[in-house]
Amino acid sequence: MKCRKCNGELVVKRSCRRVRLQCTSCKHEYQIHEVASDLDEKTSAILEQYTTIIYD
Ligand SMILES: [Zn+2]
Repeated sequence: MKCRKCNGELVVKRSCRRVRLQCTSCKHEYQIHEVASDLDEKTSAILEQYTTIIYD
């Protein structure tokens, strides 16, 4: 999963009841719905652990 801005690696970041994807390079945070169409299998698998969380 790559950052759209800098091509850095995105990691799943959980805070309270929210889940974001954050770039390890430029630190930009993406909401799930922003990158939903680009989710790869690895990231999707991680997000499946958070199915009870509301994606705002
Ligand atoms: Zn980035």
